Amino acid sequence: MNDIHPIPVEGGFVGLISVYVNVVVVVFGAIVGSFLNVVIVRWPKEQSIVKPRSACPHCGRMIAWYDNIPVVSFVVLRARCRHCGGPISWRYPLVELLTAAFSLLMFHRFVGDVQHPSPGQVGAYLLYLGFVAGLVAITFIDLEHYLIPDLVTLTSIPIGILGVWAVEQVPGVPTDVRGSVIGALIGGGSLYLMRLIYQLIRKDEGMGLGDVKMMAMIGTFLGPHPALVFVIFVSSFLGSVAGITMMALKGKDLKYALPFGPFLAVGAIVYLLWGFRHAARLLPLEPFVRGIGLG
Ligand SMILES: [Zn+2]
Repeated sequence: MNDIHPIPVEGGFVGLISVYVNVVVVVFGAIVGSFLNVVIVRWPKEQSIVKPRSACPHCGRMIAWYDNIPVVSFVVLRARCRHCGGPISWRYPLVELLTAAFSLLMFHRFVGDVQHPSPGQVGAYLLYLGFVAGLVAITFIDLEHYLIPDLVTLTSIPIGILGVWAVEQVPGVPTDVRGSVIGALIGGGSLYLMRLIYQLIRKDEGMGLGDVKMMAMIGTFLGPHPALVFVIFVSSFLGSVAGITMMALKGKDLKYALPFGPFLAVGAIVYLLWGFRHAARLLPLEPFVRGIGLG
């Protein structure tokens, strides 16, 4: 008889740790989303994103910490200010929920064993959560103001190159430091070229320089190939579908109706979560890319 029971590896306690880790990752994402909301509201007004504390836009009263809990407070307060009853935008819980979901997706994208994540895997998770968080902020600012903040795009490029350099060995990281630098140059360069061609043909502004810098940011985190072709293809396709739908519904000129940043963001996130596995097969450019030394 063997009286010594082996320590159970599966089930009970270990399962509880997994649940705990996942909850922490989701809550962390929601807190990042809450910070993004501050950036989304204050950046276009050129206000500090650090202070003062948030206030109700209707009555100006400071928002107490217990009324500022991501998602929860929105539900508890039923989308109304506690003091004046003014409406709270649906964008707050939406950004928090989106970022919480991306946090969980990025965590499982880079961390294989939830029980024993390596420092490199956690670093890759944080780096790419930061990237996606930047894309979320850009999306909501561009939708409302037709502007893409340099604060996000230009700051992300050096951070991205250094970050990729630090975690390039981690499985699943889409590029290495060389690819990151080349991706920034080709990403920005290719969109700048598209902008020039558009200006020559249409004789107007067309795409903004913000889109060019955003594409440089995307290239930094995803590398040059097959990411950039994939992102340009997906975003142009989605942008065209949305533009045509808008024209049909509202009869607007599509040129002024839609910012391009949100579509680039969706293209980049789709690549990061799914496309990286399939893009090379979907886009038969391998011989050309290897020919010019990018593959
Ligand atoms: Zn109020």
